[in-house]
Amino acid sequence: MHNITEIGMEYDVLKENTKIAHDNLRLLSEHGIRSADLMGSIGSGKTSLIIKMAEKLSAKGIRVGAIAGDVTGDDDFKRMKDAGISVMNCNTGHECHLDANMVRKVLKRMDLGSIDVLFIENVGNLVCPADFPLGTDLRVVVISTTEGDDMVRKHPDIFLHSDIAVINKVDIAEYVDVDVDVVKRDYSKLTGGVLKMMECSVKKDKGVDELMDAMGLW
Ligand code: MG
Ligand code: ZN
Repeated sequence: MHNITEIGMEYDVLKENTKIAHDNLRLLSEHGIRSADLMGSIGSGKTSLIIKMAEKLSAKGIRVGAIAGDVTGDDDFKRMKDAGISVMNCNTGHECHLDANMVRKVLKRMDLGSIDVLFIENVGNLVCPADFPLGTDLRVVVISTTEGDDMVRKHPDIFLHSDIAVINKVDIAEYVDVDVDVVKRDYSKLTGGVLKMMECSVKKDKGVDELMDAMGLW
């Protein structure tokens, strides 16, 4: 749900967001923090992926922080906290995406000197997070096989606004009748064949190391 009603107003909102996103990126860079905005659908496995990557990074002595973005509640926040991540909760109230200003407010309350990598979990939504860069080094979009094979065709914008795309839960593709190659082909076509969608199964720990390599996290 958006409060933007007029075209002129929308332009101002997006322009202001971009300005603040640049400030956020500068702040994170000054602290030597590598950051990623994880966007994607509800239930695609963003939280589990963050927890899995945090485990691997912690094992190498890399300190992980996170911001759990949700409309309401603290389920993801609690899961990440229980996994030992320095996490802050960020409820948007009504908005279906995080914006740079919300992130800026959270960053002000974080001890940025004590983390090396920051994961921001965006609100589960494949539409508007695309329009609101948060000021991270990377934007990653996560979908899963359970959503069907038409996600790229239905939501091209978010894939075009991301640096890396992940299809998760590939271990159960055959049970949900999804051909992962179809999704990957759509993505390759959309991005002109330059980018490859990464296959993952967080549950089976498949493809996560390769994703982390691609994200330059370690
Ligand atoms: Mg989540
Ligand atoms: Zn939204």
